[in-house]
Amino acid sequence: MLSRCLNASCGAPFHFLEEGRIFNIEHLVATAGRGEPQRFVKQYWLCGLCSQGLKVVVENGCVTTQPIHLELPAGETVEGTRVPVA
Ligand SMILES: [Zn+2]
Repeated sequence: MLSRCLNASCGAPFHFLEEGRIFNIEHLVATAGRGEPQRFVKQYWLCGLCSQGLKVVVENGCVTTQPIHLELPAGETVEGTRVPVA
């Protein structure tokens, strides 16, 4: 999971832990006849550029990216940060 940036339009290769941001996402896997679903954590990485404007979220059971929305005073809005396509 850490071989490339999670942003599909980026795909930067992972080289160093110091660059970008790692997200730990918990997954549940149900196995027939085994009772409780098993929990495990997978790591996902966003490169330095993508981590400035995106975060990793779970949406409809899929791990994906979403723009970071800044906390602004009431009445003010800002568009989500766009990451340029390489
Ligand atoms: Zn990236």
